[in-house]
Amino acid sequence: MNRDLFQTLDNYLLTDQQQQFRQQVQEFFRSQNFWNILKNSQLEKNDEIDPRRIYKLIAEHGLLAVHWPQSFGGQGKTMVELAILVEEMINAEIPETLFILSILFVGGLILLLDDSQQKEKWLPEMAAGNCFVSILYSESGAGSDLAALKTRATKINDEEYEITGRKLYSLKSQFCDYGLCAVRTRESDSKYDGITLILIPLRAEGVCIKPIPSMTKEVFQEVIFEKVKVSEKNIVGKLNEGWLAISKALWFERTGLDYVLKINQLLSILTHCLEHQSLPNQAEIINQLLYFGVKRDAVRIMSYSLLNQYQKDKAIDETKASMAKWYASELAMQIIQFGIENLDFFKLSQQSTVALDAFAMAYRDIPGTRLSAGSSEMMLEMIAGLQFKKIG
Ligand SMILES: Cc1cc2nc3c(=O)[nH]c(=O)nc-3n(C[C@H](O)[C@H](O)[C@H](O)COP(=O)(O)OP(=O)(O)OC[C@H]3O[C@@H](n4cnc5c(N)ncnc54)[C@H](O)[C@@H]3O)c2cc1C
Repeated sequence: MNRDLFQTLDNYLLTDQQQQFRQQVQEFFRSQNFWNILKNSQLEKNDEIDPRRIYKLIAEHGLLAVHWPQSFGGQGKTMVELAILVEEMINAEIPETLFILSILFVGGLILLLDDSQQKEKWLPEMAAGNCFVSILYSESGAGSDLAALKTRATKINDEEYEITGRKLYSLKSQFCDYGLCAVRTRESDSKYDGITLILIPLRAEGVCIKPIPSMTKEVFQEVIFEKVKVSEKNIVGKLNEGWLAISKALWFERTGLDYVLKINQLLSILTHCLEHQSLPNQAEIINQLLYFGVKRDAVRIMSYSLLNQYQKDKAIDETKASMAKWYASELAMQIIQFGIENLDFFKLSQQSTVALDAFAMAYRDIPGTRLSAGSSEMMLEMIAGLQFKKIG
């Protein structure tokens, strides 16, 4: 990890207290033997690592939902402390995806609701590391056009819905207790009306979770519901008004925060690869990597500015978020392309299979950043549309 480069901005972005918070988190992570836990959390060679035991330890230290109010199990800190926590998780090589999905995205959506009963029901258990939730939105033919979703929830008595449908491309559902699922609860002239968000217990009868074969490091899961009975108390937000909640919460996924971290990892991998090569244009390549580092810093500034804005206004500027997401994912692609064009893979395979494997993994994963949470084309369309609205 290129820690020095990454930290040059801290004096500018963080208050003294926030820099102290970073040190506290670093000390706590250093004091734990996470590596041993991680080693034992991978059942078979090709299995993904299950980070829940580590998250539980982080929760016991009061850090898992550090930015949530104390009444919901947090420490009442800001989104910036949350960003610091994620950065340090990655520095400590703790898998962060489940944390980002469950605490940042799903927890963030529940926090936005007006309903304090729902917050009390779900958030403390999540902050304590007892309950993890994945996101079940996408379906075949309902990805970019999410409102075309077909999974159906039918009311079967006063208290329960029955759910049938098939969700695709979810991450980490195999480790989760619940899936935050977008379902259709009524037919309407508008496809945006009649969508409801509901938390479906993933160990319930009628739920089948299976991996979707792919080249990525993190395996996508298909989740099939066959007449699964779910209490109406598990509805998140308002019945039939889920589209509004999804749209509001999607902006969390577009702050660029997790993309900055991916870019940082990518630059570290390339630096590591270069340590095992002596290329004729090495100096030029190092210059280009430094330039990518400056662009990465630009994304980090955008991301922190969005988080600070959210902290202040409880809303995110949609144009800025689309720009941050687009810029970050396109930058990650440029860096991967640069690696492909400039590294000597034959030499690398002879000198460091670790560096080669890390690059190969990133090569398979990075294209996904242009698709998840809204594709690059959708971001451009959004930016153009929002600007047009302002001018018009
Ligand atoms: C890493 C990763 C993690 C994910 N995690 C989850 C998860 O946890 N839960 C979940 O529910 N889903 C998840 N997804 C799925 C993700 O939300 C979808 O991949 C995404 O919405 C795109 O949908 P799609 O794959 O069906 O592609 P499509 O919607 O078919 O798009 C394919 C291409 O067509 C373009 N396109 C589509 N419509 C238009 C248009 N109107 N104008 C211009 N171009 C267009 C898109 O930009 C894209 O390039 C994840 C995906 C990835 C890559």
